[in-house]
Amino acid sequence: MPRPIQARIDLAALRHNYLLAKKPLTGQREQARAWAVVKADAYGHGLLRTASALADIADGFALLEPEAAVALRDAGFRQPILLLEGFFEPEDLAVCAEYSLIPAIHRIEQLQLIRAAALPVRLPIYLKLNTGMNRLGFTLDQLPAVKAELASSSAIGPVTLMTHFAEADGERGIAWQMERFSRIGQGWNCPVSMANSAAILRYPQTAHDWVRPGIMLYGGSPFADASAASFGLRPVMTLRSRILAVQTIAAGERVGYGGTFVAEQPTRVGIVACGYADGYPRHAPSGTPILVAGQRTTTLGRVSMDMLACDLSRLPEAGVDSTVVLWGEGLPADEVAAAAETISYELFCALARRVPVLEV
Ligand SMILES: *Cc1c(COP(=O)(O)O)cnc(C)c1O
Repeated sequence: MPRPIQARIDLAALRHNYLLAKKPLTGQREQARAWAVVKADAYGHGLLRTASALADIADGFALLEPEAAVALRDAGFRQPILLLEGFFEPEDLAVCAEYSLIPAIHRIEQLQLIRAAALPVRLPIYLKLNTGMNRLGFTLDQLPAVKAELASSSAIGPVTLMTHFAEADGERGIAWQMERFSRIGQGWNCPVSMANSAAILRYPQTAHDWVRPGIMLYGGSPFADASAASFGLRPVMTLRSRILAVQTIAAGERVGYGGTFVAEQPTRVGIVACGYADGYPRHAPSGTPILVAGQRTTTLGRVSMDMLACDLSRLPEAGVDSTVVLWGEGLPADEVAAAAETISYELFCALARRVPVLEV
């Protein structure tokens, strides 16, 4: 007799979204290859589930947990695997060689460590260029040393240049980083990987050789001002539950911890089997959208650990056992995220272990 909450993962939608990320550029003969970004347990969707669903179409998998990369190999995946944060300990290098993992390299010492590791194979690498995100990567003044190290080392295999956009989803866009990239990357003559979901959708000219779609695979929009559906993306995760109880409260009564919602009129309150211990954001305020029996309404009061409340006053046909959609099919996770002042990435990643997953 399981609790009624459930996360449904739509594998066909996942495949649809991946192929959309790979859609060739108009007028360009060759299409970019796409790393399916499956870090953070595939944004909460399940690493092996996601990889299996994409197995016959994915060009490669990108993630950053080395043990997850090894798990993919152990499960039989043969595609290239990119470690987005590279290796963390010198011992990881033997693992990279044994399991054919491509590390992103962002500090000169890492090249020296690769040389010192005397691996049995030349290690292919992604060279991370810092074009303005200012988290990881080489800047223009560091590149002569990198070039010298590469020239004197036979430990490194093919090099791909990568950079990451900081504001592809915002007003400032990508032109400023593209300009820096073309200066830093001048004369390298290597394959290039730069586009995340926002760049793929808004600046397809950044696709180059390999794109790196993450959130769009899972049907989330990287933009605050454009819905996923407007790009043809389909939701993958639907968090569903049911109404456990209905309370009809008088004006002046309050709902939940802290009594943050005060009824201004008699109100029919539905109690939903879902709380922050399931991954629903505790900071979602009263008024966050929620779907009950296929109809939109709003949450009321504070989210508890295992329950939350919603307004059924205008949904007379809804009652105990009515189906509730917290996000997903019929209610974009992006809208719920916006109401909670976060992004769909965080909602997906927060899905709790205790929520049973059903693949559809
Ligand atoms: C997470 C990540 C991506 C994917 O980003 P989305 O916004 O989810 O598409 C791409 N590249 C790097 C380096 C990342 O860390």
